[in-house]
Amino acid sequence: MRIDLHTHSSASDGTDTPGDLVREAAAAGLDVVALTDHDAMSGWAEAQRAADEAGITLVPGLEISTTFRHRGVHLLGYLPDPAYPPLVAVLDRILAGRTARTPAMVAALQARGIAITEDDVRREAGGSVAAGRPHVADALVRMGIVADRTEAFHVLLNPGRPGYVDRYAVPLEEMIPILTAAGGVAVIAHPWGRSGGSVLDEPALASLKELGLAGIEVDHQDHSPAFRARLRSIAADLDLVVTGSSDHHGLGKVDHDLGVNTTDPEQYERLLSLAGRPLGG
Ligand code: AMP
Ligand code: ZN
Ligand code: FE
Ligand code: FE
Repeated sequence: MRIDLHTHSSASDGTDTPGDLVREAAAAGLDVVALTDHDAMSGWAEAQRAADEAGITLVPGLEISTTFRHRGVHLLGYLPDPAYPPLVAVLDRILAGRTARTPAMVAALQARGIAITEDDVRREAGGSVAAGRPHVADALVRMGIVADRTEAFHVLLNPGRPGYVDRYAVPLEEMIPILTAAGGVAVIAHPWGRSGGSVLDEPALASLKELGLAGIEVDHQDHSPAFRARLRSIAADLDLVVTGSSDHHGLGKVDHDLGVNTTDPEQYERLLSLAGRPLGG
């Protein structure tokens, strides 16, 4: 069984529609794929229809923008009740922050002499409810200012670069209990990737487990073999579920092909039983 638990569609900043993403997952030989758009569950219904048609399993999820010790941390949530009011309220607040950030980023870029408009960004965001820096990057690519998203981030959109604007993210210690109360399972995405870095050490992960954290994403392209080995040993110490996934964004991120990393079936079953959905149950 091949299981990929972290992907993005055009409901956030991936380039495939949710249906196309699921069909590509089936074509790539995956049996289980989780759709985990940033701060959004709006792709679930279309993805579920495609999964039913393709005969693979969809795990409905999302990747929530949180903060921990002044750093950005991405929290994967699987199988929450999408109507749970505190979850809906948090996502509304994050999405409002995203929407408000776009004009500020456009203004910052205009101040540097770049003739980008809010409409340019809106056009790239298309059906996404989670407007973000990748859509600004796509507009800059279309204008011929940079070659691709990677260059856009390095030159203009990363923290410290001229187009960077901060936005609201929910404290991680608030989000884990909300997600858990929503019937969901909380897994920290790429804990030692680009932004989380050193704040998520073993004592921190132990304290987050007390709040309901179920697992950590170990096999991710942002993690070196040494990081993966160390994270695997921490997960064993703390009895956390270990996941592996692609973090696929369609054409939006290179070297993140579907199934490039996968999750062990036993670990997947642990997640399902924590969500109260054991296989076949
Ligand atoms: P935002 O949430 O709007 O601040 O944008 C962050 C998103 O940009 C994350 O989903 C990343 O996957 C994506 N991202 C960050 N750096 C890069 C990069 N160098 N190339 C492509 N996508 C990136
Ligand atoms: Zn993304
Ligand atoms: Fe992420
Ligand atoms: Fe992601």
